[in-house]
Amino acid sequence: SARTRIFSGVQPTGHLTLGNYLGAMRRWAEEDQHRAEALFCVVDLHALTVEHDPARVRRLSRQAATLLLAVGLDPELCTVFVQSQVDEHLRLSYLMECTASDGEMRRMIQYKEKAAREQARGGSVRLSLLSYPALMAADILAYGTHEVPVGEDQAQHVELTRDLAVRFNQRYGATFVVPKATHPAVAARVMDLQEPTSKMGKSHVRTAGTVYLLDEPEVVRKKVMRAVTDPGSDVVYERGERPGVANLLDVLAACSGGDPERLAEGYSSYGALKKDTAEAVVEMLRPVRGRHAELAAEPAYVDEVLRAGAERARGLARPRVDAAFRAMGL
Ligand code: ADP
Repeated sequence: SARTRIFSGVQPTGHLTLGNYLGAMRRWAEEDQHRAEALFCVVDLHALTVEHDPARVRRLSRQAATLLLAVGLDPELCTVFVQSQVDEHLRLSYLMECTASDGEMRRMIQYKEKAAREQARGGSVRLSLLSYPALMAADILAYGTHEVPVGEDQAQHVELTRDLAVRFNQRYGATFVVPKATHPAVAARVMDLQEPTSKMGKSHVRTAGTVYLLDEPEVVRKKVMRAVTDPGSDVVYERGERPGVANLLDVLAACSGGDPERLAEGYSSYGALKKDTAEAVVEMLRPVRGRHAELAAEPAYVDEVLRAGAERARGLARPRVDAAFRAMGL
């Protein structure tokens, strides 16, 4: 059909965070599923690129899928599924590995950061961590995706996906749509509350700076009230000089629909800003927690949504992936 096609996903490498929600999931539910033919995926294969515990990945994958529904994705409007249930991702991933170069994979910031983290833990770096962007390109390109709604941290991977699509089309014939990333206007990169120069991430070892979607209200309040702020005491929005305060303003603006610079004018102390931010986050997450609890009590319903989603995704992906095999000489 001529409808815009949208694809995006979350990794079950930890509990989903406020960063995942504000950077990506909220728009999927509020905007994307209503205006386009959209697919949203728990990308569990990607969770195997770093040291992992099988039972934990399975549990987190289920929780992530349940949360996708809890934030408001409606299976009547969009397709929700788990990546490993659709073989086309792996089939196309290999073709993407044969399209990409070693050098362009090694340049990826996420690879460098995660490889350093694995080495610091005394582990080895899995080959799949390096080739991760090939699988991500396959995730996106398999569906003829036009738009990829993601946080800013994924911009580089989507850029590489575009390069691979263009290269493949030039060498082997027009096969893929060349997609583009879209980012939210505010809070496209939510920063860690304890270390506001790095992004809030679900797989960080220290968790005091990360707000999880399923944190109890009291825990959310405590984390926000203890957020690291900057020297000085006046509330101004300066991402470079005042990253801690700017991050709180971004989060508050994203929750309350305001503009971070304008909001700053209404505060004369960090304490008041933190208090309002904490309450705004608690109120925003309250219905998500409630729906998650309801859905977790209905495992058969969630199973059926995921089964039907995978079937639909498979049907959409197969013709294009088959065409890519033929185009490459198989
Ligand atoms: P992570 O493992 O870092 O939590 P994922 O790779 O699962 O994130 O990404 C899921 C989505 O959430 C992506 O669109 C990503 O850009 C977005 N995202 C992740 N962390 C943040 C953040 N701190 N701020 C904004 N968006 C984020």
